[in-house]
Amino acid sequence: MTNQDLLKAIQNFGSPLYVYDTSIMKSQYKRLQDAFKKVTNVKIHYAVKALSNISVLKYLHSLGAGMDTVSIQEVQLAIEAGVPVEDIIYTPNGVSMTEIEEAASLGVQINIDNLSILEQFGTKHPATPVCIRINPHVMAGGHTNISVGHIDSKFGISIHQLPHIKRIVENTGMLINGIHMHTGSDILDVDVFLYASEILFKAAKQFDKLEFIDFGSGFKVPYKEGDIETNVEEFGEKLSQRFNEFCQDYGSELTLAFEPGKFLVSEAGKFLVQVNVVKQTTSTVFAQVDSGFNHFIRPMLYGSQHHISNISNPEGRERFYTVTGYICETDTFANNRRISEIREGDILSFRNAGAYCFTMSSNYNSRFCPAEVLYYDGDTHLIRERETFEDLIKNQKVLSF
Ligand SMILES: *Cc1c(COP(=O)(O)O)cnc(C)c1O
Repeated sequence: MTNQDLLKAIQNFGSPLYVYDTSIMKSQYKRLQDAFKKVTNVKIHYAVKALSNISVLKYLHSLGAGMDTVSIQEVQLAIEAGVPVEDIIYTPNGVSMTEIEEAASLGVQINIDNLSILEQFGTKHPATPVCIRINPHVMAGGHTNISVGHIDSKFGISIHQLPHIKRIVENTGMLINGIHMHTGSDILDVDVFLYASEILFKAAKQFDKLEFIDFGSGFKVPYKEGDIETNVEEFGEKLSQRFNEFCQDYGSELTLAFEPGKFLVSEAGKFLVQVNVVKQTTSTVFAQVDSGFNHFIRPMLYGSQHHISNISNPEGRERFYTVTGYICETDTFANNRRISEIREGDILSFRNAGAYCFTMSSNYNSRFCPAEVLYYDGDTHLIRERETFEDLIKNQKVLSF
């Protein structure tokens, strides 16, 4: 996808605009697949919450991906995209028993992450296979230390509660077919992840009817020059070997599952905005664009630094800019960033705008959510129209006074 393709997309579909390149999704998917080619059964479930447009789900499914979902609505989106229920795993946190039963009745794989629901569900539906989300309490401390932390995380059932899990399983006669972890921490250090995997293997040994072990996600991708990314190849080599050993020891060939979001779609996405105003103050030059944290919240919410380029003046002399939005609130996208000279009307492109960008957009300041475009087969295709004023008011019940 060249700058020309992006500029053409802006001409056709307007600004601001999300554009996703399917060839990058594909190469990332293949990379992960190749890294684990020594394991016979591998299943990659794409984490829908990263980017949930139905066309994106369909595309990833066409590559062979299943779906990892965190809400009943995401389950419904995956089904809408044509993904068979056997390829959908439902990993909610803190949702009601009713919603879990609804998902189970649709036939998707249930993943339970607390003892209360485990006991209720096992009592009512002992024949429905359930996966258990374990919190291994492992996190990376610096680059080399492995520490046992995250004791206060709300996710998963503590590994220390394994005896209680076993008691519930025995008492209810429920069927545990999978063990899962997703620490949410980035896999910067492969050894930290392998350490957590050992804890998961130990837990897995306690259940004799497993079909899969799900190692969650946490694959890191570079956001700007110099960022570290997960060495997926090294990681695949090491975990594959360990997984195959485990299966031999366990006595059956289990499926190794992952649920990457960011890894598959982050780099595939570009967020395009137009510069409304270039404003000089006594200390800085602001480039103010036709968007804000209502469309792209990661810099403000997580402090993430997305690389920005001026695609309508790529050869311009570089200067320092603070890039902000048009929301009536502080919405800084980048501070003091070196960017090719920005003129009013220029189009800026934010990198890594595939994951957790559109899905976190809102109507704050009563602005419309942007349109989304998929770049596929050498051409751009609109996959979500820009909102309109009707969308803003459609659920409002207007009283008269
Ligand atoms: C969000 C989430 C993922 C995806 O995480 P990434 O960092 O985007 O790869 C995977 N599994 C679960 C349970 C999640 O909640």
